[in-house]
Amino acid sequence: MKFMRLFEYEGREIFAKYGIKVTPAVLARSVEEALKAAETLGYPVVVKAQVLTGGRGKAGGVRIVANRAELIEHAGRILGLVIQGEKTESVLLSEKTEIAQELYVGATFDPQNGLPALMFSTSGGMDIEEVARTTPEKVLTMHLPPTQPVRGFRIVDFLRGSGLPADLLPKVAQVMQKLIEAFHGSDATTAEINPLVVTPQGEVVAVDAKVVIDDSSLARQGIVPRFEAGTPLETRARTKGLNYVQLEGNIAVLGSGAGLAMATMDLISHYGAKPACFLDTGGGISSEKMAEALRICLATPGVEAVLVNAFGGINNCEWMGRGIANVIDEDKPTAKILVKMRGHSQDEGWKLLEDRNIPIVKFGTTEEAVQKTVRLVNPNTRNCGACSGPQGKGA
Ligand code: GDP
Ligand code: MN
Repeated sequence: MKFMRLFEYEGREIFAKYGIKVTPAVLARSVEEALKAAETLGYPVVVKAQVLTGGRGKAGGVRIVANRAELIEHAGRILGLVIQGEKTESVLLSEKTEIAQELYVGATFDPQNGLPALMFSTSGGMDIEEVARTTPEKVLTMHLPPTQPVRGFRIVDFLRGSGLPADLLPKVAQVMQKLIEAFHGSDATTAEINPLVVTPQGEVVAVDAKVVIDDSSLARQGIVPRFEAGTPLETRARTKGLNYVQLEGNIAVLGSGAGLAMATMDLISHYGAKPACFLDTGGGISSEKMAEALRICLATPGVEAVLVNAFGGINNCEWMGRGIANVIDEDKPTAKILVKMRGHSQDEGWKLLEDRNIPIVKFGTTEEAVQKTVRLVNPNTRNCGACSGPQGKGA
């Protein structure tokens, strides 16, 4: 499990989706784009470096500009600004909010007991870390049940005695209630608004967003990790939660488990052929996901055959078989497909494949399946050079 911090503009999108009021903002990757964005937002406008480290304000990465000339100067300076070793590639232009008070609200997991917790402080703003370190009593913590939503009145109760004026209690409580929904809904490990601004009119609005998500959930969230470049097929696989690496041979390997897929690749090389790709479905796949895995294998450049090597432990052979059958029925692929599949609901799975005339290895070994697949793409392979043992007689 790794954690991935999102950019402020991505965090804002999540907050807005859950009904938290955020200041209107537009992303820009150049000074020209920034000027355009400012035209729609109007001056004065806030220019904010989009980097994955905190403390941008103190590093000169957040600046309020009053007009075009100032924007050109500061957008130009901030684009390219290096903050804690990270180069700024884009800026967020955000409508400027009048600030009466800066609050801090956050949701995270308490490392002590693993439970989610809401945090609140009336000392929000750029010094919150300092506040938490030197006067921890100014940051209040409310523990929550593992997953259930929390009722508004409980948060209001929690906020009483925090020093927040009574008329703000329900407004801030509502933001915190939505924050915990956003936190759970986006599989976050941290979701923070600092500052949550109280305007002179008594409105409560988020002007910053920090969201860190558990990257095991990226597929569920439909998010493509930005730090991993790859081929279009690799990206497509990643968004579907499939582990896929594109290679240069002609036999695609589709395994239900990384170890099985790697062993299959080794045997393909051993028998003188080359894997076109490595695809590991992971556990618990649906027929739709199996179909997508097979389609990705079939779309891999250079593929002449796909070897599906699956074990039905967590996976169900009938579901996997149905996914394969659907691709055969709907796409009528020209590449050959050989399936070695055994385990949970194997008979039902085999039946689906037999009905479609797909070669199946039912009880044999991976080695046998590999040999047969190699012969499918190269019928002249009679006896495999390195073979020995019962499978190696070129039968
Ligand atoms: P951080 O330093 O990386 O946390 O960046 P923030 O987005 O929190 O901005 C830093 C500080 O800039 C905030 O604490 C505010 O004091 C100030 N700031 C940000 N947006 C606005 C705004 O819309 N209006 C005003 N007046 N100040 C802002
Ligand atoms: Mn902030």
